[in-house]
Amino acid sequence: MTINVTRSSLPELEEYMEEIRSIWESHWLTNMGVKHDELQAELERFLNMPHVTLFTNGHLALETALAALDLPKGGEVITTPFTFVSTTHAITRNGLVPVFADIDPVSYTLDPKKAEALITDKTVAILPVHVYGRLCDVDAFAKLAKKYDLKLIYDAAHAFAVFKDGKSSADFGDLSMYSFHATKVFHTIEGGALCYRDDALVQRLNDLKNFGIRGPEDCAYIGGNAKMSEFQAAMGLCNLRHLDREIGLRKLAADRYNERLGGVPGIRLSAPQPGVTQTYAYYPVIFDGYKYTRDEIDARLRAEGIVPRKYFYPLTNDYRCYADLPTAGKEKTPIAAYIADRVLTIPIYSGLKEEEVDRICDVILN
Ligand SMILES: *Cc1c(COP(=O)(O)O)cnc(C)c1O
Repeated sequence: MTINVTRSSLPELEEYMEEIRSIWESHWLTNMGVKHDELQAELERFLNMPHVTLFTNGHLALETALAALDLPKGGEVITTPFTFVSTTHAITRNGLVPVFADIDPVSYTLDPKKAEALITDKTVAILPVHVYGRLCDVDAFAKLAKKYDLKLIYDAAHAFAVFKDGKSSADFGDLSMYSFHATKVFHTIEGGALCYRDDALVQRLNDLKNFGIRGPEDCAYIGGNAKMSEFQAAMGLCNLRHLDREIGLRKLAADRYNERLGGVPGIRLSAPQPGVTQTYAYYPVIFDGYKYTRDEIDARLRAEGIVPRKYFYPLTNDYRCYADLPTAGKEKTPIAAYIADRVLTIPIYSGLKEEEVDRICDVILN
């Protein structure tokens, strides 16, 4: 049987049925209903944030975050190419210009020194990504944002339920975006959220996710439609109850991988960060000087019905849709290019059995 890089977690069918029963009674399916408001309140409590705004997916949450900040068109946003295209697209689709800085070779997150070197009088914001749930150098970015008066938005799509010294990953920068896509550790089928402290953003974001409509006869902004439905929120309410178990089961798989692959020459695993909790969202392995290349391992695994992913290869600054940008081209970000050529994320999810982890390790270790 095929083992995929991930498998969406699901609550018991009966639990979800019970959760959506009231939707049949009310006939209220979307537009900020009871389930939407309940999930929002639970997330604010869980993340200890004054404001969480829910969206129909993480990408539109990020696009809307940038729109809400009213950044001048043509402004430059310093970001990482070692990410999912969504991050880069969110910048471009707002009429802003992504400027790619290189990453840190250990955390794989945007390097604040490389970012600072690219700041110009056109720079309006920084958009780092907490890659694989590893936190960026949040203190350094806070200092940069303050020193140069820049907005700081985190793509925290991988970092839901990650806490640093008790503080949630939502609580850094001006806004943080979570994705609740089906493939994420916590999901609402499709979904996302913005987390922030600024009271002034609440109304603005709620307007922007609903066409800019303020009331039955008032349209305040030229907004899009990015609302989370009641069915999505209901899935979130169910999954939130089982989050600890989900993370615990992923940890078992990660521990087994660490045991089997740790210390093997030419295989580099990611060490946990001091004071930062882990959710085991991904299991990235770097093949650097190993007896087989990353691409050889990828092919061997696939031949055995195991489907890993080259997250993140190619870099987003290497996609043809970005070829015209001044900082396009992977040679501009050599560390990111080096990692992208050697990384493979291998299967990890809550139902992955120890025998399956062993089978995967056997193929890698031969
Ligand atoms: C999943 C993801 C997104 C997009 O989230 P969606 O909910 O799928 O729209 C953005 N950035 C990163 C890094 C992601 O992994």
